[in-house]
Amino acid sequence: MTPSSMTLLGARCWDGDAWIDAPIHLQGGLVVERPARDGVVVDLRDQDATILPGLVDAHTHLGIPPLHPNAAGMTDVALDDVMMQSARIHIKAGVTTVRDLGELRGRNHVWAERQHASDWTGPRIVQYGTPLTVTDGHCAWMGHACDGPDAADQAARRELELGADGVKLMVSGGLSSQGTDARGLLMDAASIQAACNVARNRSAPVAAHVMGGPGLQTAARMGVTSIEHGYWMSREDADVMAAHGVMWVPTMTVPWLVAERVPFGDATPSEAMAQLAREAREAQHASMQHALAAGLHIVAGTDYAPGTLADEIRLMSEAGVPTDDALRAATSSAAKLLRLADVGHLRTGAHADVLVVQGDPRRDMRVLTRPMMVIRGGVVVHDERANATA
Ligand SMILES: [Zn+2]
Repeated sequence: MTPSSMTLLGARCWDGDAWIDAPIHLQGGLVVERPARDGVVVDLRDQDATILPGLVDAHTHLGIPPLHPNAAGMTDVALDDVMMQSARIHIKAGVTTVRDLGELRGRNHVWAERQHASDWTGPRIVQYGTPLTVTDGHCAWMGHACDGPDAADQAARRELELGADGVKLMVSGGLSSQGTDARGLLMDAASIQAACNVARNRSAPVAAHVMGGPGLQTAARMGVTSIEHGYWMSREDADVMAAHGVMWVPTMTVPWLVAERVPFGDATPSEAMAQLAREAREAQHASMQHALAAGLHIVAGTDYAPGTLADEIRLMSEAGVPTDDALRAATSSAAKLLRLADVGHLRTGAHADVLVVQGDPRRDMRVLTRPMMVIRGGVVVHDERANATA
C-alpha cells in the first residue's frame, strides 16, 4: 500500500516527549520536515483534536488465549485467526507497534516475517519467541521447560537464532497458572543468569515475568532488562531494580479486568483467579508509589486484552504517574524498551505512525479510547472521519 503525503494541522500535538504546536508532515512513510507539494492537508484545528505518535503496547500476546481450555491443542490455523483478530484490534485502538512476549510453537516468529509484506496493515511486531519457563511453571503448556542453567542457555540460544528480538523468562507463578505460587521463585538464579548471559552476548534484551516475591530482586541482579507485572513490589525491590537500570511494565489492566471476571475470548476467569487478581489490584497501587519514589522507567503494556492500552495509561495516571510520563509510557519510553529509534515519537525521520483523538488527554485520559484516525507507515488504516461522512 502506498503511503500518502499528508500534512496534519492540529491545535495540540504530543510528539512522544513534549507538547508542541506545529503541523506534522508525512511523506514516503516517514515524518518529514516540510510539506510535500502534492500532499493532502488534514485540518483538525476546529475538531478539538490531539495528534500523537501511534501507540506502543510493550506487553502483548497476539495469539495465546490464556483461559482457553485447550489452548495447547490449538492448530496454527486457529492461532493465526486469533492473531489476525488481535492485530486488527490493536490498530483500531491506535496501537501501531506491539511487543509479543510469547506464543505457542513460536508462532510470533512467523508473524514477525509477515509484517514485512507490502499489504500488511497491522502493527509493527517486536517478538520474543516462545518463553522460557520450568516444568509445571507459569505457562508450562506453551514454554520451554528449562530446569537448570544448561537448558536455559540452550533455549535462549535457540529463540535468538530463530530470530527473536529478545528472551522472555517466566520467573514466578502467574494469575492464570493455578497451582503455582504467584510470588514464588520458580526459575532458579543460575538459569536466569544463563539466559541473561546468552542475551547479553547478542545484545538482546530479557523480559522477566515476575509477580512479586524474591524473583524481583533476583531477576534484577541477574541482569534482566525489564520486569513484567511486579504487582507485589516493595520499596527495596524498586530500589534494586533502579540500581540495575531495570525497566518496569506494570500491566495494571490485567488484575483490573480479571478481578471483575471480564471474559477473554470465550472463557471467563475462575473465581480463584479473580480473587488473586483482587489481591494484586490492591497491592499494585503501593507498588506504583515505590516505583515512582525509586524513579523507575515505566512502560505501558496490556498482556491480557488487546485494545486496552488507553485504559492502562489511564490507570497509571490514576495511580500517580504524571500525565506526560503516562503518555511517554505508551510512546517514547516504550520505544526505548523495544530498542526502536524510529517509533514512539513524531520527530523528523520517524515512521509515519500517527494517532489522532478527539479531546485533550491532559484533561481526560479517556479520550485515548476513541481514536479518530490511525496512520501506520503513512497509510491511513483507520478513519472515523470517513465513516462519519460515508
Ligand atoms: Zn504476558
